[in-house]
Amino acid sequence: MFSLKTLQTKKHWSNWAETAQGQFEEFFTPRSVEELQAIVGKAFKDGKRIRIIGASHSFSPIALPEEICISLHEMRGMDSVDKERGEATFWGGTYLYEIGPLLKEHGLALENMGDIQEQTIAGAVSTGTHGTGITLGSISSQVIEWEWIDGMGEYHIHRRVDQDDSLANCLHVSLGLFGILVRVTLKLLPLYSLKVKTFRATIEEGMSSWKEDLHQFRHLEWFWFPGTKLIQVKQMDAIPPVPQKKWEKTISTISKNVVDNQAFYLLSEICKRNPRRTQWVSEFSAKNIPNRIETGYSYELFATPRKVKFYESEIAIPIERFLECMEELLAGLKDNPFFVHFPIECRFVKDEPGFLNPNFQQDSAFLAFHMYKGMPYEAYFEWIWGVMEKYNGRPHWGKMNNLSKEKIQKLYPKWNNFQEKRQEYDPKGIFLNKYFRELIH
Ligand SMILES: Cc1cc2nc3c(=O)[nH]c(=O)nc-3n(C[C@H](O)[C@H](O)[C@H](O)COP(=O)(O)OP(=O)(O)OC[C@H]3O[C@@H](n4cnc5c(N)ncnc54)[C@H](O)[C@@H]3O)c2cc1C
Repeated sequence: MFSLKTLQTKKHWSNWAETAQGQFEEFFTPRSVEELQAIVGKAFKDGKRIRIIGASHSFSPIALPEEICISLHEMRGMDSVDKERGEATFWGGTYLYEIGPLLKEHGLALENMGDIQEQTIAGAVSTGTHGTGITLGSISSQVIEWEWIDGMGEYHIHRRVDQDDSLANCLHVSLGLFGILVRVTLKLLPLYSLKVKTFRATIEEGMSSWKEDLHQFRHLEWFWFPGTKLIQVKQMDAIPPVPQKKWEKTISTISKNVVDNQAFYLLSEICKRNPRRTQWVSEFSAKNIPNRIETGYSYELFATPRKVKFYESEIAIPIERFLECMEELLAGLKDNPFFVHFPIECRFVKDEPGFLNPNFQQDSAFLAFHMYKGMPYEAYFEWIWGVMEKYNGRPHWGKMNNLSKEKIQKLYPKWNNFQEKRQEYDPKGIFLNKYFRELIH
């Protein structure tokens, strides 16, 4: 589990889901760009490898440090803001939950967010962390300027010129391979609130109105309970800024913590101890999907607490193949052969120009598959990866996947362009850990 104290004292790193862990030699939490440059410059001379960690919320081993581990925990907060231009610059170590309240003070807000806000802005941007909404891109698409320290300790700044800007398209989702992002400048929206409606529907109902709903609501999301024909539908729209009412916030907090987390934890434990009860749990959860309407500032409602730990793999497929893919999943998971009770999350994201975006140049449906931590996930994910391959599925880099050198070449037409540029900024490959060495060499 991510803890600065453990990192400092035990020199041991683990990600949130404990799917990647390892020992490293040195740990740094620099407080300035100059200090960071000195650390990287020395590592370059000494031939040491560096991995920079955010909040360690990636499920794949992308952040796993081997020799030097750096955290920007001491380089956080808003550096500058320009309300007229709708832009603000944040230090790379800023946690997403710090951003909303800071921006609100200036009447601004992020365009979109994912479903938690524990990540750092640099970590989220580095993997293309996304929410849902077919007219909206990932958090990476909100970045217009990057400042970073390369593999030789040199400082760089680059502002996106246009959609064909090749360096910007590398930095868009750079997986920590171009160096250390010290600051990012985000394009923002005037402060707004969300009206969030959550309800239960049958999969048939969801599928029949999906095309219309996709464009009717700013954000559309489904949670489908495997082995059932029921989904939780979440529709969100932007409304003028109003804070969440106190009583509504209290009820929502209790409901999300007690029902969504504590009750779900107990149900998950039942499944872990007795996998044969999984189908019953999936049906029970689906039948008890709450009907909710909430309003509040966007940053108060995008994210929800996720206290029950799980393993996750998420794959992006071309949006036009979503319904066909769902039909295949429905047939394959009809009798719940893999004992899954965590819902399959379906989100929809606009195409992006980033060379390593899973939604590179294609509007995409992102399907996320979860398994309760401690339950066997291998057969389920293997099956999913096989199915998703038929749809040219591109996995989320921060989630569990079966990527290989060969698969990446096929899925990412600009992979070689990314690698050529990467070598300019990191000629000795000091930012490559074992995971990336295997994917690249
Ligand atoms: C419970 C949970 C919910 C999630 N929900 C979503 C979601 O809704 N949508 C979604 O898309 N993803 C989601 N994710 C995945 C998560 O957003 C990504 O994996 C994200 O990259 C994690 O950010 P982090 O700060 O923890 O970075 P880490 O996981 O620590 O690092 C991720 C990558 O960023 C690099 N990095 C970190 N800091 C820097 C820096 N300063 N400069 C350069 N590179 C850097 C690391 O080296 C690594 O390659 C979720 C994960 C969890 C555990």
